[in-house]
Amino acid sequence: MNEDEAVAMFVAVTGVEDEGIAFMLLEDCKWNLEDAVNSHLLMQSEPGPPTSNHTPGMAGSALNEGVYNSEQIHPRIWKVVEADPYGQYPFLYVILGKDKCIVIDTGTGCGDFKRFVSTHINTASLPYLVVCTHVHFDHVGGNHAFQGEGCLGIAMGSRDVKFTSNVEINSLSLAHPGCTIKPFEVTRWLHDGDLIHLDEANKAKEHSLEVIYTPGHTLDSIALIDHQAGRIFVGDTLYPFTAVHLDCLGSSTTDCLASLARLKGLAAGKILSCGHVECNLGPDALDEFAALVEGVRAGAVPPTIVEGEHAEFTNGMRFSVWMPLKERAGT
Ligand SMILES: [Zn+2]
Repeated sequence: MNEDEAVAMFVAVTGVEDEGIAFMLLEDCKWNLEDAVNSHLLMQSEPGPPTSNHTPGMAGSALNEGVYNSEQIHPRIWKVVEADPYGQYPFLYVILGKDKCIVIDTGTGCGDFKRFVSTHINTASLPYLVVCTHVHFDHVGGNHAFQGEGCLGIAMGSRDVKFTSNVEINSLSLAHPGCTIKPFEVTRWLHDGDLIHLDEANKAKEHSLEVIYTPGHTLDSIALIDHQAGRIFVGDTLYPFTAVHLDCLGSSTTDCLASLARLKGLAAGKILSCGHVECNLGPDALDEFAALVEGVRAGAVPPTIVEGEHAEFTNGMRFSVWMPLKERAGT
């Protein structure tokens, strides 16, 4: 991540609109994004004049409320970035359908995401449907808060129900001290090709989200295609400027390459909305990231960081990836 990208990420995560302030804080923290975000949150929690003068709920505006910062990216779609204490900064998406509010991923659970959405976005109190792109802790941590009254259910991909159901191990929360995932119940297991309707009275594909299995990052990763909005919510299958992990429990580089190829066939003219870093990624990124993974497997890309049996590889442009060293030919 270069300085411009760090400033852009800082702005997305904190909602601070003054790039000069972002630059100053990052400079103070020697360009460590996590340190800069944390010192900003610390400053915010101290008494003082409010830093945001936005009207809550104003269409198209950015909203800043402590750990959650939202931006309207389409007439019925919002991106919310969670400034979590684990430095993941997941991108959560909220889609206002005709008869329901669909929440794609719920973050780590470090704040009251449901309250944020209900106060600022779902002001008509539509019932919620939570859909998670995969079981990692920074995508399912807020699920528990949505369960119960006013919630149609929690939906996840059914490619490997056993994997998804083992939240304690496969969420990776144990690797992040202080992080625990409160229990939640998946009430709808999504199959490849399933449609999640934005309007129960109009079940056409154009008024639905189409579920696509995209294993690779995890066994249970799914992408959601919003045909009408021309967007694909890709979870952690790829995102730029921060290393993608293909070294998790249940990661597979072979599956990842197949998923990238499949997404390429579906992504012409669409925008990719990633689970971190970028909500407006062009579909050319699918080829660029696939070329990096293939290059690593062929032994053509040297590692930049080695940690035990895993290593980070970069293409020197937008993408980097963590992979098991044994996946690299000749290693
Ligand atoms: Zn993940």
